Amino acid sequence: MTERKTAVVTGGGSGIGRAVAHRLAADGFAVAVLDLNADTAKQVVEEITEAGNEAVAFGDVDVSDRGQVNAAIESIRQTLGPVLVLVNNAGVTGFREFLKISDASWNKTLAVNLSGPFYLSQAVLPDMIAAHWGRIVNISSSSAQGGQQYMAHYVSSKAGLIGMTKSLALEFGEHGVTVNTIPPGFVDTPMLRESERRGMLGGSVDIHAERTPVRRPGKPEDIAAATSFLCREEAGYITGQIIGVNGGRNT
Ligand code: ADP
Repeated sequence: MTERKTAVVTGGGSGIGRAVAHRLAADGFAVAVLDLNADTAKQVVEEITEAGNEAVAFGDVDVSDRGQVNAAIESIRQTLGPVLVLVNNAGVTGFREFLKISDASWNKTLAVNLSGPFYLSQAVLPDMIAAHWGRIVNISSSSAQGGQQYMAHYVSSKAGLIGMTKSLALEFGEHGVTVNTIPPGFVDTPMLRESERRGMLGGSVDIHAERTPVRRPGKPEDIAAATSFLCREEAGYITGQIIGVNGGRNT
């Protein structure tokens, strides 16, 4: 068993999650890359291992399924030890006029983006309480604060995550566990480019970059850097916070 602290990154196979997994591994955590997609999870673990750091892939895990989450966390515990860092990043997006959002789409979005973090937090908090040390970082979205047309299901799930963050921070602070949320703004990932192609952004990535005070879209590494800081020892007095990483643009 490793001496390193173990970190679970959900949706670690792609985009923001991939960058977070790389960064936490470089910081010295043993990283469990958990993803629905087994191939990308494996690939990210290969990259991390090649860089000389420690990671293990847990693919084919659907965060919206409590049984799969519990089984994966137990397996991670056996392989890497107690889970002391959790980054809830796995998510699905959607773009639909509100009056046309189906029950199935609504339920699926809430299940992955909000129930997933609920199941994962319940699964790992006993480890954190026992260690009297833990860090949970929930990746929300800047749209959770400002709203976004045609994305009411996605935005509702991400706003719910902010509520969960604040509530858990109050409940588990006495156990040495901090819980924060990062609502990224525009981050240049394959998902963003796909949204641009499908006309979901209300303008091109370049136009959004011009409207951003720092004049560029975010990079996955920007989110990873903030996550890394929140997981450090010295960030222990930061909890229940919404840490915007958005180039100065809040909506
Ligand atoms: P972003 O651009 O926000 O990083 P991506 O689509 O690139 O978004 O990454 C989201 C990640 O979450 C993907 O790796 C995807 O496979 C993963 N994911 C999506 N749904 C689930 C799920 N139900 N369980 C686990 N992982 C999921």
